[in-house]
Amino acid sequence: EIAQITLDGPAASGKSSAAQGLAKELNAYFVNTGDMYRALTSVVLSKGIDPETQPEEIEKILPEQDIRYVSGEGLELLLQINGQLAQASQVRSPEVAAKVSLVAKVPAVRQWLVKRQRQSAELGLIVMEGRDIGTVVFPEAKFKFYVSASPLVRAQRRLVQEGEVSEGATVEKVAAEIAKRDEMDMNRAVSPLKPAEDAIKVDTSDLPLEEVISLMATIVRK
Ligand code: C5P
Repeated sequence: EIAQITLDGPAASGKSSAAQGLAKELNAYFVNTGDMYRALTSVVLSKGIDPETQPEEIEKILPEQDIRYVSGEGLELLLQINGQLAQASQVRSPEVAAKVSLVAKVPAVRQWLVKRQRQSAELGLIVMEGRDIGTVVFPEAKFKFYVSASPLVRAQRRLVQEGEVSEGATVEKVAAEIAKRDEMDMNRAVSPLKPAEDAIKVDTSDLPLEEVISLMATIVRK
């Protein structure tokens, strides 16, 4: 009985699109955990908290926050921030992208969000993507994928995603932003980004999305 399928990997590796496509193929729920960290970051910034110098202030506001996925139509899940539908402008902004890794390294934040992520297992078959899903959130998952791509390919992909990069961004600037975030995610003390020992590695640099999805679906269905 498969319950969870996990996808982890660095920023802009194509794991969101791949996870979404795989979930559709398998009639499963798709859970994007990066958006949960981003949602919390948008709340932190809106309260004027500096994640770099005031991590303890982040911990203090957690009990009053509610970040969760609620069921939409069919298998669709909608992210809510304190009862309001999360807007793309909140979670996908360059300001949030620049600070999210600082928020995500606070141990209390991880505990708080991992608990919520595990609760979504109650929904049924889920495909969950993030940085620590195969290592920490669902270490017992039967199928784990670690999705990566070359830095140049990732920067190029991110550049064409509307709203996520500042105006006038270049491949070089975007590559530097991604590299900085990966560096923080891979070197933090708690739940650093790394492949689970039993993860299947998928390099998507030269693979079209459709092929990535069918490759993973074939493995899961075997
Ligand atoms: O996947 P996405 O790029 O939206 O994730 C944004 C950030 O959230 C990551 O760079 C990382 O700092 C954090 N994150 C995390 N653990 C997860 C998912 C995301 O620390 N499971």
